[in-house]
Amino acid sequence: MKKFFPILLLAIGLLSFQIVSDTQGVDKKIKKPSDSPAHYMQLAVAWYQTAAETRALCYQAFNIARMSLDLTLQTAPSDKPLAVVFDIDETLLDNSPYQAACVINGISYPTQWGEWIQAAMAEPVPGALEFVNYVNSRGVDVFYVSNRKADELEATIKNLNKFNFPQVEESHIMLRETTSNKEPRRQKITETHNIVMLVGDNMGDFTQDCTKKNIEERFAATDNMKNQFGRTYIVLPNPMYGDWEGAMYDNDYSITAEQKDELRNKVMTVFKY
Ligand SMILES: [Mg+2]
Repeated sequence: MKKFFPILLLAIGLLSFQIVSDTQGVDKKIKKPSDSPAHYMQLAVAWYQTAAETRALCYQAFNIARMSLDLTLQTAPSDKPLAVVFDIDETLLDNSPYQAACVINGISYPTQWGEWIQAAMAEPVPGALEFVNYVNSRGVDVFYVSNRKADELEATIKNLNKFNFPQVEESHIMLRETTSNKEPRRQKITETHNIVMLVGDNMGDFTQDCTKKNIEERFAATDNMKNQFGRTYIVLPNPMYGDWEGAMYDNDYSITAEQKDELRNKVMTVFKY
């Protein structure tokens, strides 16, 4: 046994090193991914990252956007320059690696979101770069209206420039300053431009009518503007987060993980055997 003792010590040492290196940045309480308070997002993130269907939906959105823009440009008013307004996150840039880190590391937004933004590593959503370039090629102004915080401007520019998104200049990027309500920023753009299209993954990218509302109210507001979708409103898929999630919690994210889990069960339409 004596001569095996140093080997045993070495094995224990190596094992501990492995555990430490595997769990860097990981909440110590998380022993397995299913213990993560963000584990409920696992299927949504996996779908977003691995489903060919997700890519297809993104391509579909941008193909429709292009057809619609072509039609709009035939009859658009010419009193002011035209603009297309884009949201950034999960519309042009894919932040799903951050959402995956939430699942695996047991963190939730906004923990470590800042580090992800500063890394400027988000990849373009499929079809996004091509469409924004197309808008630019048609002589239409591009505005980036995002609820990233104002102090994340530099990192946001860095990330967009990494892929050569067009018109990435401070006057065309409007981040969140005092409010997450995008309506005042859209109004500001309409002072100088005719907005011909809004592109986003969250209803707040199109209207305030679905913000801080319950599920039924959001449905009703969406039904009221059903003719806009695929025309002036282009929607990208995001099953990972959004105002739709808050609607399930009565827009109160401060409740416990258990309460959220309960509410997610409660809102479902269930076949009763
Ligand atoms: Mg977004």
